[in-house]
Amino acid sequence: MGRFAPSPTGPLHFGSLVAAIGSYCLARQEGGCWLVRIEDLDRPRVVPGAADEILRTLEDCGMEWDGPVLYQSCRTARYEAALERLRGAGLIFVCGCSRKEVLASAPHVGEEGPLYPGTCRERIVSGRRPRALRIRVPKDLFCYVDGVFGPREQRLSAAVGDFVLRRADGLFAYQLAVVVDDAECGVTQVVRGADLLSSTPRQIFLQTCLGYPVPDYIHLPLALAADGCKISKRDGAAAAAGEELWRALRFLGQPVPKSLCGAPPVEVVAWGVEYFRLERVPTASAAVGALTTS
Ligand code: GLU
Repeated sequence: MGRFAPSPTGPLHFGSLVAAIGSYCLARQEGGCWLVRIEDLDRPRVVPGAADEILRTLEDCGMEWDGPVLYQSCRTARYEAALERLRGAGLIFVCGCSRKEVLASAPHVGEEGPLYPGTCRERIVSGRRPRALRIRVPKDLFCYVDGVFGPREQRLSAAVGDFVLRRADGLFAYQLAVVVDDAECGVTQVVRGADLLSSTPRQIFLQTCLGYPVPDYIHLPLALAADGCKISKRDGAAAAAGEELWRALRFLGQPVPKSLCGAPPVEVVAWGVEYFRLERVPTASAAVGALTTS
């Protein structure tokens, strides 16, 4: 069971299309289901109308999903229940540090920026008001084998520290929501952009704490804008169709025939479902402008 989980922060850009077609082909070629989940938890970043536009683009591309679309904004009770279980296991603590205080007190920079130094781990600093809920991370090394990037490992305590599960503004963190949703929907294969490689150990840790199975992880190379930056949905890159799908498959190292460039989307997708091979997917991110049709 695969899935595609876009954040509705703008139209479906080329980088997201790469994740969509990759996850779709891999799920379908094993005869599996493919789910779509709209990750609209971070309300301040949600762009009105973007979710519908993304879904329309997927339809235009001939990528049909199974079952109803899941909206994270409707699932807060499920995240709350998971948080309660973690709290019951004694893993959660209330942190009173503002972002500024974390920055000022962080002695090291981890993979994801300043490393939370455990200021409120034992007890909230007196006089501070409760803000975020964090989870205590162990010193263990988390290892997994990515379907494209191979063996990966991360020591959460050194890379990120005790991370936030519920933010000071009351919003549930992506890390918790994604784990609860993937597990409750029976997702067994997570295919997504390589920008989330370093989130995976946090998610495996949460799966372990909650007694969920660990899905297979397959991270795809990032499509970069011509200037070498990650393409942002807010850049409003053109909506995708047959030619874009063809380019997305080429980007993923798949030898889709030139004759299919610009063919109806269903034909390009059908080729992908039949011939997509994970072994051909490169690990290096690349600028989209570097693609050729030869
Ligand atoms: N919502 C994330 C994004 O649009 C993807 C999350 C995931 O696939 O786990 O980048």
